Amino acid sequence: MPSYLALHASGELEKRIAQAYARLRACDICPRRCGVDRTRGETGFCRAGLEPIVASWNVHLWEEPPISGTRGSGTIFFTYCTGRCLFCQNYPISQLGVGQLVSTARLAEMMLELQGRGCHNINLVTPTHFVPQIIAALPVAIAGGLSIPLVYNSSGFESVETLRLLEGIVDIYLPDAKYDDPKVARELSGFPDYVAANRAALQEIYRQVGEDLICDENGIAQRGMIIRHMLLPQGLAGSAAIFQWIAQTLSPRVHVSVMSQYFPAHRAVGHPVLGRKITWEEYEATLDAFAAAGLENGWQQETEWDLEAN
Ligand code: SF4
Repeated sequence: MPSYLALHASGELEKRIAQAYARLRACDICPRRCGVDRTRGETGFCRAGLEPIVASWNVHLWEEPPISGTRGSGTIFFTYCTGRCLFCQNYPISQLGVGQLVSTARLAEMMLELQGRGCHNINLVTPTHFVPQIIAALPVAIAGGLSIPLVYNSSGFESVETLRLLEGIVDIYLPDAKYDDPKVARELSGFPDYVAANRAALQEIYRQVGEDLICDENGIAQRGMIIRHMLLPQGLAGSAAIFQWIAQTLSPRVHVSVMSQYFPAHRAVGHPVLGRKITWEEYEATLDAFAAAGLENGWQQETEWDLEAN
């Protein structure tokens, strides 16, 4: 049973909603700390205001096996983002603002529709800038019978204070570890101090849910964390150093999902470094680094068509 049901029953969920909305008055929901008053319609870097904006919601079958399971993960894609990746594959949603303003009551209905379609979980994609609104949707969703785990699927650029608001609400965290070098993170994704924020966030998530991915009798995740790491051309993501940090600072037992499906999109098309896929050599070197770091659990995508022939 998801832990948000207990928080709702105790009254703690309502307190968290109030705390989260209070922070929108001088927004510090993410590490950018823009300080704008989103309750009065002001917008900061992410361009998100008071109401949630949703680009799409659907059954998704291609997440990691414990997330998608057999019936799929109920993804809700939020519009806008706290980053500006040059290579973002979803840039019309994340950067151009494609999506619809919805009420928190409608957001709750989306959760219930996805649960009604048999999804194993509600998968909140790029949720960071809408944390207060997501929490606010839960009492309505719970009243309607929501009872499946919540997955928080993010860039990993998170405020520890915001993650603390989510303790006991989110069951499964799916954060990225995108970069090992803050300069590269700033140049390619526009994140200020990504590495420090990301590592503090991963440590907080680890404190909340620990190293084990707890699954039910059918292998469907119920609680835990999976760190996602996408390879970039020419080693720009710093994969080996990230794997070592996870193994040494968190635990070698933490699940890590290595993603090799990078392709040039958006402003990476024609880019001298980012304008190609990953090579087999880069992919194999990354798997070697995964093993050398001593990581014990995770997934690797290795479809031939994902990689650059050379
Ligand atoms: S959530 Fe948006 S407005 Fe708030 S601090 Fe982050 S980028 Fe700025």
